[in-house]
Amino acid sequence: MAPAHHAVPALRQYAMTLTPIDRAIPERAARLRVSGRLSGARWCPSPNFGARPSDCGISLLVIHNISLPPGQYAGPAIEQFFCNQLDPREHPYFESIAGMQVSSHLLIRRDGECVQFVNLRDRAWHAGRSSFEGRPECNDYSIGIELEGTDHESYTELQYQTLDRVSRQIMAAWPAITGARVTGHSDIAPGRKTDPGPAFDWQGYRQRLQKCREPGRSSRDVGG
Ligand SMILES: [Zn+2]
Repeated sequence: MAPAHHAVPALRQYAMTLTPIDRAIPERAARLRVSGRLSGARWCPSPNFGARPSDCGISLLVIHNISLPPGQYAGPAIEQFFCNQLDPREHPYFESIAGMQVSSHLLIRRDGECVQFVNLRDRAWHAGRSSFEGRPECNDYSIGIELEGTDHESYTELQYQTLDRVSRQIMAAWPAITGARVTGHSDIAPGRKTDPGPAFDWQGYRQRLQKCREPGRSSRDVGG
């Protein structure tokens, strides 16, 4: 008869790799916390990232916008930009940004598609010089989500739906990201950045996020 440990199910082996805080959250959230890869997101890896400082938890979610060229949607330029493949000859605006090395963890396109550029466990280069509640270097401890858009044009319902789903998955995986720790780029870099702009419906977004926490709904309702 084989020793019992040969029969340990894969899930139990997986569970053994989790830290105490991982075990305190639902399995799906724990998987995201371990993998850093959002299920359902298209993976488009950017070279623009680094390791987070050691002992630096993830405790902030930053909402941005981007469109390339500004105000034009659906082209490949954002992905090219975050992957250092933007051709400065394609558009006059690109000449001014083509050499920049930046990224975000996620991009939500106008049709609601989610693209992931950087593993959520890693440090993406989205916030720049920034601070939240007096703590500088938001890139160290935040996850950045770009919405394809501009400061003054309404975002789409499909974007809000995806943003809500993705935010809840992230907040379940990293419970230190409370509702009060979901912020905009303009809030952590005032005077320097304006996104996601007045077009972003903070009230509606926060109401959606709040809904999943109503009593009587289980953690199974979170994500999806
Ligand atoms: Zn931004």
